[in-house]
Amino acid sequence: MNPFQKGFIEGIIPPKPMTVSEWSDKHRMLSSKGSSEPGRWRTSRVPYLKQPMNCLSVTNTDVQRVVVMFGAQLGKTEMGINFLLYTIDHCPAPILCVAASLDMVKRMSRQRLEPAFEETPVIKAKIAPQRSRDASNSMFIKEFPNGILLLTGSNSPAGLRSAPVRYLFMDETDSYPSDASTSGGVSEGDPCELAIKRTSTFSRKKILMTSTPTTKDFSRIESEYLASDMRRYWVPCPACNEYQVLVWSQMKWENRDASTAKYECVHCGERFDETHKTALLRKGEWRAEKPMTRKTAGFQMSSLYSPAGWLTWPEIVEEFLRSKDDAPLFKTWVNTRMAETFDESYQSQLSAEALLERCEKYMPGTIPEDVLFLVGGVDIQGGGGTKDERIEVSTWGIAPDEHMYLIQHDVIYGDPNQGTVWEGLDILLTNEYEHPNGGKLKIECCAIDTGGLATQAVYNYCRQRQGLGVIGIKGSSQSGKPAIGRGSRVDLNYRGRAIKKGVIVYMVGSDTIKDVLFARLKFNDKLHFHAQTTEEYFKQFTGERRVLKKNGRGTEYVQKKNQNVEALDTAVYAYAALNHLYQRFPRGKIYQIFANRLLKSLNSTKENTLNSKKPTSKQGYVHKW
Ligand SMILES: [Zn+2]
Repeated sequence: MNPFQKGFIEGIIPPKPMTVSEWSDKHRMLSSKGSSEPGRWRTSRVPYLKQPMNCLSVTNTDVQRVVVMFGAQLGKTEMGINFLLYTIDHCPAPILCVAASLDMVKRMSRQRLEPAFEETPVIKAKIAPQRSRDASNSMFIKEFPNGILLLTGSNSPAGLRSAPVRYLFMDETDSYPSDASTSGGVSEGDPCELAIKRTSTFSRKKILMTSTPTTKDFSRIESEYLASDMRRYWVPCPACNEYQVLVWSQMKWENRDASTAKYECVHCGERFDETHKTALLRKGEWRAEKPMTRKTAGFQMSSLYSPAGWLTWPEIVEEFLRSKDDAPLFKTWVNTRMAETFDESYQSQLSAEALLERCEKYMPGTIPEDVLFLVGGVDIQGGGGTKDERIEVSTWGIAPDEHMYLIQHDVIYGDPNQGTVWEGLDILLTNEYEHPNGGKLKIECCAIDTGGLATQAVYNYCRQRQGLGVIGIKGSSQSGKPAIGRGSRVDLNYRGRAIKKGVIVYMVGSDTIKDVLFARLKFNDKLHFHAQTTEEYFKQFTGERRVLKKNGRGTEYVQKKNQNVEALDTAVYAYAALNHLYQRFPRGKIYQIFANRLLKSLNSTKENTLNSKKPTSKQGYVHKW
């Protein structure tokens, strides 16, 4: 019997309905071209894919839309291919497959689909081999008995407006443009909406949307997931057998050594390694957080579930360690490994009340043992007779691996255009703090905001106090800016030329720094707060959130209503000061350099105890936190 006769006979005898996973286990072959594990498809290798695949089966009439928000290395694209192959063979009808762009479609067609067709015999028998001028089987159109598979890019309005389809697969939806129109063209609307409209004439349709998420408020897959029944994968602890969702905060390792990565059970505290993963996945189950509406089932899963041999826990920890200090890299890590959107979700979970629990035992004004040097950030409020004029100063201690300790936060009341507040700042900048080992520390670098109503007064102070490590800065909310840029001279003479030894002002990437600080608040223990840090301080520290810009292009930080944010601003400036030190000392050696300096100060303190100066009068100087 030739393949066409066989197809004809199979068309007469209705096949017993199968699920996508049953069909795949029976027929699907993984090509050596597109897969790291060629050979027969085994759902048991990726047990968590069984339920989403079966929601896409003709046997399931409860679900019409399947939303898959997954991290990388979990097999989500293979699942989509199983869905396509299953419909071609098992329940043929018109199918539309959408990738981000026409280029991506070509790549998907060549690298993933064609090898899958070629190596899966029941499909090969139904799709005629591709010939160059054969319209029935091109890169964008695959005909098969009783159906057609159309492939298009989300940037192609013509492709999205094609004939009605019963089945729709949209891959990586978060990389689609917000509008399907090509540049300069007429607005065509959201590509997903356009594609979904194609399915409206079919009552028994199936729609599969998959993606790793991107930025909050921009992420299609997340908004679809939130509108679904929100399923997450629960697995039992090998020690106590209690079910739980694997979360990043339970991942533990020792001394920056990713190879020691283990998962700590949230119930019994037992730690276990990768070798348990296969059993965990097998015993796992999807649990919905909400009842289902709109016939939409949603699945979220991080790469912590990636099957043994694909992406390991030590590899994920290693990637975390490498990316955590670089905002764009870190965002990618959060998106593709944690399968979570970045920014606000991290921030909104930070409540001032919860942060109070992060206060540590050391007292304000004292130096924890790990701290090797100090930096400061100064915010100027008012000037020229406005209300509540003051400057606010945060002093932060820096320890190896960029741990930051809040030493104290001070408010000095007075008009920044008058001298008194600056005398107060002098006291803080010349203050010597005692290190527990007996040595002395002073603020190494202090960054002062030059924006606002007292710019000239700030310039004057910066010019006079360069010797105390004072620098002038100006915040930029443009995204993607470095923490601190190169300085430029702002003092000009009457001819408009820069004055030698004039003030240098450094541009500071405020949003970049806020991304770093907020990620650290949520993700690790690198920010430390003294025992008396108040709720008001934490309210200010978390007083901004990232929101969608009014013009819809990108996000920006805005202050929460009626919320002061000086605690945040001064921390941003202090972090800029730290980055200024990186311009002066090599990053790899900075801790050693300051450790040596601290030792030296220890020796000289022993010699000169009698000569040490006490801080002068503290008049006009109010200690707030
Ligand atoms: Zn346990």
